[in-house]
Amino acid sequence: MSEKVLIIGSGPAGLTAAIYAARAGLEPLMVEGFERGGQLMITTDVENYPGFPDGIMGPDLMEQIRKQAERFGTRIISSNVTEVDFSERPFRVSVGSDDYTADTVIISTGASARWLGVPGEEKLRGFGVSACATCDGFFFRDKELIVVGGGDSAMEEALFLTKFASKVTVVHRRDEFRASKIMVDRVLNHPKIEVVWDSVVEEVLGDSLVTGVSLRNRTTDEVTRMDVDGVFVAIGHDPNTEVFKGQLELDDAGYIVTPKGSTSTSVKGVYAAGDVADRVYRQAVTAAGMGCQAALDAERFLEHGA
Ligand code: NAP
Repeated sequence: MSEKVLIIGSGPAGLTAAIYAARAGLEPLMVEGFERGGQLMITTDVENYPGFPDGIMGPDLMEQIRKQAERFGTRIISSNVTEVDFSERPFRVSVGSDDYTADTVIISTGASARWLGVPGEEKLRGFGVSACATCDGFFFRDKELIVVGGGDSAMEEALFLTKFASKVTVVHRRDEFRASKIMVDRVLNHPKIEVVWDSVVEEVLGDSLVTGVSLRNRTTDEVTRMDVDGVFVAIGHDPNTEVFKGQLELDDAGYIVTPKGSTSTSVKGVYAAGDVADRVYRQAVTAAGMGCQAALDAERFLEHGA
């Protein structure tokens, strides 16, 4: 028998969809993915999720939302989806050699941080290389750091890291930032922040811990070594949509295309919620809101076929 609702992904969007679908008696099945709980699992304090005036740790928040989803009967498979076929109904969702069929599918696979892909980066991830200042900034008290990127995330990370670090250098590949003016002004006027323009990281240096980076100036081609204790990569995120290529309409950056204000995708009965379909807001609370919408959309589709 087909599942009525199959949810792929277990961040705030997927779990909220599960709460709503389960309470509507649709007995959702969730394939939670290997990165269970999503990006909040690698966050520390969450201070802007409504209902927690003293803040809550990201993993604790996800555990609570998960419990709430399970309380109403959500079944959870701890694995990754390997293939989907949305060309006919019921839809087919494969997890390795196991096939599931479903009348509606809600996709909430989120987005993942982009990495530079330079030597030393992967080896030293967690040992001075990070993509999350809120998670790891704390470990760099009185240290010197670089932040790579020129968007709002890079500005935000750099400003946040000044709480801990003695000096933060923003390394950007061009000669102007793409971030919003207010953020750029704050960065440029901050006494602890310096900017290295027109430069890229060629290598992250260090054996067991980061000791420095080699930087190449893109206009002069000159390569210099900079001693630092940490490298924060803030060059954007990529939506986790590899498995949906050729099945659903994706935009140029790979995000699932949904009409404004709706979670519908290019296939009727398949819905998308959270960062996988949202490159603008990218907040836990907006993802949760979209998860709720997706469950209501799926419920309506099952009732009326529209
Ligand atoms: P983004 O706007 O796409 O910026 C990515 C930055 O990384 C760009 O400056 C880009 O350089 C650089 N970059 C990309 N690939 C690189 C590479 N391989 N090597 C070196 N540099 C590289 O991403 P984002 O900053 O994560 O922001 C995403 C969205 O969220 C934006 O719409 C942003 O406004 C929003 N956001 C808002 C806030 C806020 O308002 N508080 C905070 C965070 C994010 P180029 O400029 O040369 O392309």
